[in-house]
Amino acid sequence: MATIIDGKKVSIELLKELQKKTDKLQKKPSIAVILANNDDASRIYVNSKEKQANILGYKSMVYKFEKTVKQEELIELINKLNNDSNVNAILLQLPLFNHLNENELIELINPIKDVDGFHPLNTGKLYSNLNPFAVCCTPKGIIKLLDYYKIDITGKNTLVIGRSNIVGKPMAALLTNRDATVTLAHSKSENLKEITKTKDIIISATGCPKLIKKDMVKQNSVIIDVGIVKQNNGKLMGDVDFENVKDKVSYITPVPGGVGPMTIACLMENTYELFLKQN
Ligand code: NAP
Repeated sequence: MATIIDGKKVSIELLKELQKKTDKLQKKPSIAVILANNDDASRIYVNSKEKQANILGYKSMVYKFEKTVKQEELIELINKLNNDSNVNAILLQLPLFNHLNENELIELINPIKDVDGFHPLNTGKLYSNLNPFAVCCTPKGIIKLLDYYKIDITGKNTLVIGRSNIVGKPMAALLTNRDATVTLAHSKSENLKEITKTKDIIISATGCPKLIKKDMVKQNSVIIDVGIVKQNNGKLMGDVDFENVKDKVSYITPVPGGVGPMTIACLMENTYELFLKQN
């Protein structure tokens, strides 16, 4: 029977530490969130980010836009936030409305305010193992979970499934920087089952419910499930067939309560760290 990795508990500990550090500051960190889509999940994420920022005593501003928003308006806003010394962190909530140019806006954010670590300067620094201003929150949170549970990464045979800029690619980079042997799989990968069966650590970030089944994993391996898909009955489902896989592996994250809480905690930590770097 596997140890269930308790992301909620670890995130609460991280936030408590952050609270202590923040309480000692005279001036508090501030975060600006730009929301330019109609996506329900994004609105829920933005609300919980705002709530958490308020609990910590950060100043939090949310800029919400309708579908009629023009690229120029967002460019103007980002320029304004870049130049405002009272704003330490800028978060562009993805995805954007289809007509907007996401890459242009990400590249416009001042890298030292890029709280998600998506700017090419920060991803470039990450891939070169050169201390980015901020590291993407979800992969950063996963490394913290592995470290918290003292799961050895060095030299391990690891697999990341999913190659998005938000999760898969930065995750593979962080594991590489920690001396793991890394395979990066995606929807075009052939014989996924043959790949998964030999891995010590699998991190799955596809959004395909129950993609990872019991006969696909190695005995005593470590399974990190990033996927979150809302079912018709309202229940959240991960990429892993949790009930069956948990009997075979040594550690596993549940959905919800695994990776998700760490993402928000790391966003708050990134905001704090950017504040320190700017002051
Ligand atoms: P994404 O941009 O849609 O990327 C999904 C990736 O999975 C793509 O690289 C895709 O391959 C790959 N993929 C899809 N089906 C596959 C299959 N059957 N076999 C192998 N690979 C497959 O998604 P994302 O933003 O990375 O997010 C992934 C999941 O994580 C979603 O469920 C999302 O809601 C969740 N998520 C959770 C958190 C959290 O905090 N817990 C944070 C971010 C995302 P191709 O590149 O070939 O298309």
